[in-house]
Amino acid sequence: MRDIYFWWIGADAADGRLLATVRSVVERTFGRAVHVWSGRDRPEDAFDPRRQQHSSTRILQWLVDRRPSDAHKVLALTDVDLFIPILTFVFGEAQLDGAAAIVSTARLRTNYGSSNGRLLTTRLAKECVHELGHTFGLIHCDRRGCVMTRSVSVLDVDAKTGSFCEDCWARYEELDREGRGDHEQRADAHSDRGR
Ligand SMILES: [Zn+2]
Ligand SMILES: [Zn+2]
Repeated sequence: MRDIYFWWIGADAADGRLLATVRSVVERTFGRAVHVWSGRDRPEDAFDPRRQQHSSTRILQWLVDRRPSDAHKVLALTDVDLFIPILTFVFGEAQLDGAAAIVSTARLRTNYGSSNGRLLTTRLAKECVHELGHTFGLIHCDRRGCVMTRSVSVLDVDAKTGSFCEDCWARYEELDREGRGDHEQRADAHSDRGR
């Protein structure tokens, strides 16, 4: 169970080309297979009529219950605007060292003078790597250019690279090893009880 699933839960239809590109970036970055889940369910109670936005936290709770059974991590992608109560908006949210993350294209479409069609793809890929990084246990990083730096605006997203810095990469590998170690220990404990 090491695979990552993408799940498009947007209001409009998915942009297949956009998702395919982001998917290959994420596969390359994490060295894991990424599958696309096309479940038709959508979270029903995430919309806040007062804010006219969707609660990313509610969507994460919803995702955990509905993810495919062999999904180690599930990343929802959407076009609706997301919020958490203390912020005007968020690009995405993730469960730290958990199973679920979400990223929205809504605020990544802001262009700031550039009409480059690739810009959205690049930004989305960075935010997907960032939120998935959190699900693997990585916290925010201060190293200039690292994909795990915090982004307040799209200018911050544009200023960082799509890659982990050396420290974050080392930490990712360490956490990944620990995660697998735990799994083996649990399997052993289980077989001990069986004897
Ligand atoms: Zn973050
Ligand atoms: Zn870093």
